[in-house]
Amino acid sequence: MSKNKHLPEDREALINGATYPESKKTQQAAEKATTYAASVTAPETVVVDKPPPKPNYPLYRVQPGERISLSDIDPNTSEHYRKKKEVMVELEKHRQRIRKLQERLYAENQRSLLIVLQAMDTGGKDGTIKHVFREVNPQGCQVWSFKIPSDEEASHDFLWRYHHRVPQRGMITIFNRAHYEDVLVVRVHDLVKEDVWQQRYHIINEFEQMLTLSNITVIKFFLHISKDEQKRRLESRLENPDKQWKFSKNDIKERRLWDEYQQAFEDAISNCSTAYAPWYVVPANKKWYRNLVVARTIADTLEAINPQYPNGEKGLKNIVIPD
Ligand code: AMP
Ligand code: MG
Repeated sequence: MSKNKHLPEDREALINGATYPESKKTQQAAEKATTYAASVTAPETVVVDKPPPKPNYPLYRVQPGERISLSDIDPNTSEHYRKKKEVMVELEKHRQRIRKLQERLYAENQRSLLIVLQAMDTGGKDGTIKHVFREVNPQGCQVWSFKIPSDEEASHDFLWRYHHRVPQRGMITIFNRAHYEDVLVVRVHDLVKEDVWQQRYHIINEFEQMLTLSNITVIKFFLHISKDEQKRRLESRLENPDKQWKFSKNDIKERRLWDEYQQAFEDAISNCSTAYAPWYVVPANKKWYRNLVVARTIADTLEAINPQYPNGEKGLKNIVIPD
């Protein structure tokens, strides 16, 4: 490209695709925070004793740059566990760990956790939230479910509605569907042109890094079910009058696009699993195993964050509460 006399050198380098001309200090500060985040989002390196006991989390974490194929990941596996009964005690242990760590995160009031849940229809996002966060103080936890954008949401940039809902200090926030919808449903239904959704992977990675630099730990779960399992779950919704409210005729139309969605998920997960905001592909045909994997991953991530109760005010020792 020819030189543009109207632009300062730095600006021209930017337009030509060179890296940002940040100062060394700025780069070092960002690197430090990103490296810290990467250690927290690889919790087994901080939390788990050596050698790592079975199971270990890298099992389901997608490594940065790894290209995944969902058809190679068995949604039925459950390690050595065979029945729901076998995980109940362990699941409860992780729920209690989450409860205690969340209390410390809230008290510390410095950092926060953003959990992204994505799945095919009937994949179990609602059930995961219900079963994993049962013990958490509602005051320290928020859930946001993202549906078809409202007129107001649709008239902004695609990240606007999500950014607005990221956790404030001390909070755990769960996104039930998230900014990934804008490279999933939007892509599968051609709601925007390809050159628009293609850029979004990069924008999402930058967005998540920006959150990371703001002391928000980001972890993302794809609840992986098979097409057969979806059929069973849709049938059960149809048959059970108490579950019919969850069934939409639109689910049948979406099911026909199964392969397109799987492809879109593979691209989203492969392009956006970073050291600071990793994706986990969780085998989710067995609901009890899915809950166990999500709960222990969150508990370990919180433990790696290691939030601390703040010190009390000075001089509390001598205080006597008046009658
Ligand atoms: P549900 O979670 O079953 O209540 O359904 C919510 C619906 O909203 C799903 O069909 C999503 O695909 C759709 N949805 C969520 N986010 C978006 C988006 N950004 N653009 C279009 N549709 C969306
Ligand atoms: Mg639905």
